[in-house]
Amino acid sequence: EKLTLDEIKKKMRDHSIDMIRLEYTDILGINRGKLMPASMVDDIFEEGIAFAAPSLLMAFNNEIIPSKYFSETSDDMKVMGDASTFTILPHCEHTALVLGDLYYKDKPLRVAPREFLKRMIEEYHKLGFDPIAASELEFYVYNKLPDGSVEPYSNHPCSCYTANKRIDPKRFLYKLTQSFEKIGFNVLYMNHEYYPGQFEYNWKHSKILRAADEGALFKALSKDIAEMDDLMVTFMAKPRNAAGGSGCHFHISLNDLKSGENVCFDKEKENGISDVMRYFIGGLIKHAKGISPFLAPTVNCYKRYQPDSFAPIYIGWGYDNRTTYIRIPDERGKGTRLEVRAGSAAANTYLALGSILAAGLDGIKNQIEPPEVVTTDLYHDESKQDQVLPNALYKAIDFLEEDQWLQECIGAELIEVFSNLKRSEITEYKKYVTDWEWNTYSYHN
Ligand code: GLU
Ligand code: MG
Ligand code: MG
Repeated sequence: EKLTLDEIKKKMRDHSIDMIRLEYTDILGINRGKLMPASMVDDIFEEGIAFAAPSLLMAFNNEIIPSKYFSETSDDMKVMGDASTFTILPHCEHTALVLGDLYYKDKPLRVAPREFLKRMIEEYHKLGFDPIAASELEFYVYNKLPDGSVEPYSNHPCSCYTANKRIDPKRFLYKLTQSFEKIGFNVLYMNHEYYPGQFEYNWKHSKILRAADEGALFKALSKDIAEMDDLMVTFMAKPRNAAGGSGCHFHISLNDLKSGENVCFDKEKENGISDVMRYFIGGLIKHAKGISPFLAPTVNCYKRYQPDSFAPIYIGWGYDNRTTYIRIPDERGKGTRLEVRAGSAAANTYLALGSILAAGLDGIKNQIEPPEVVTTDLYHDESKQDQVLPNALYKAIDFLEEDQWLQECIGAELIEVFSNLKRSEITEYKKYVTDWEWNTYSYHN
C-alpha cells in the first residue's frame, strides 16, 4: 500500500515513531542503511539521502572490488525512500523502517538489485503481465553458547513437521510469527524442517516486488530478533556437515495486468498449462545455468546440491516432481504456478527473482519450447541427466558471462560488478584448507 507523506507522518505521530531506518539491499544480499531521527522524513521521501556509492562494491571481507562501470572513490548515490515499504518495527521501540531505491546522477542505479527487479517487472508490464511470487525460505536457528560456539535451537531428534513444544523452547518462533504478522507480511505458516534447528517460513503469494522486499526484510529482521534472545539465525545454504541444505523455493505465476486473472492456466491446453507458462518454463530451462549464480551466489551454496536432498542437480521440469529443477504443483485455476527449486536460502531475493524473470522473458518473447517433461526420479534416471546445473560458483559465473540474452536483459554493469565480487570471494576461499582435507590426507600423504 502506497502511503502519502502526510499519511506516513500521521502514522509516525500515532505510534510515537522517532527513529527511521532507511535501508537497501546490496548486491551480496546484505541490508545496509542509516539511522535517522523522525525529522528527516521529508528528506527521505522527497530529496533522498546521500550514501557513498562504492559501498555497493564491498565484498564480505569489506574490501572494495573495482568495476570499470563505477568509480570506487568519490561518487555519492542517493537513496530515495519507497513509501510503499514504510514499516513500523514491533521489536524495535519507536522505530520504523523504509526501503529505498538507489539513484546515481538522478537516474536509477542499474547495478542495484531492487532497481534490476523493477526493470524486469517493467518488461512484463509492457507485455501485459504482472509477475506474482511466493517463497518458501529455509533457515537454521542456533543457541549461542558462552564460549562463542553454537548448538541447534531444537537439539532433539526433530525432523520435518515435528510439532511439539520442544521445537520452540524459547518461544522464538512465536515471536517471529507475531512480529511479521504485526508488520503486515503475508505470513502463511512456519514449520520445522528435516534437521534439528532447521525451519521453514512460507508466504502467501503477492506481487513480485513485495515478495522480494519481504524476503529481504525477513532475513534482516529475523537476525535482529534472534540476537535479542542470544540466538543466531542463518540463511547459509549448507551450514554444517551433518545438516541438510537450506533452500528458498520460489513459486512464480503471471497475472493479466488488467483483469488480474492468472494467465498460467488454460483449461484447453495439456495439463491446464497455458502457452505463456510453457514458454516461461522453456526460457528458464534454457538459461538455468546462466542464472545459477543468482540463485546460488556463494561457494557454499553448491554444497547444498546433493542427490536425494530435494535440491536439484539436473535441469528438468516435472509435475509434482521434487527431484527436478522446476516442479509444477498440482493446483490449477488461480493457483497454477511453477516452483523453482534451485534457489538457495542465501540468495539475494531481488537478484534471484529478477534473474528468473529475465530467463522466462526470453522464453515468452521467443516462444521457447521446454524439453520433454520428467516423470521419473531425476537423481537416479541417467537417461534424463544430460542437463546438469553448474556444481561450483566459478563455473556458474562463466555460464552467466557467456549468456548473451542475460547480458542484454540483466545489463553488463550488474553482471560485471556481481561477477567481480564473486570472483574475489572465490580467490579468498581457495586459500583455505578444509577439515576434510586434513582428516583424509594428512596421515597417508
Ligand atoms: N532443503 C531442501 C532444499 O534445500 C528442500 C526440502 C523441501 O522440499 O522442503 O531445497
Ligand atoms: Mg522445505
Ligand atoms: Mg517447495
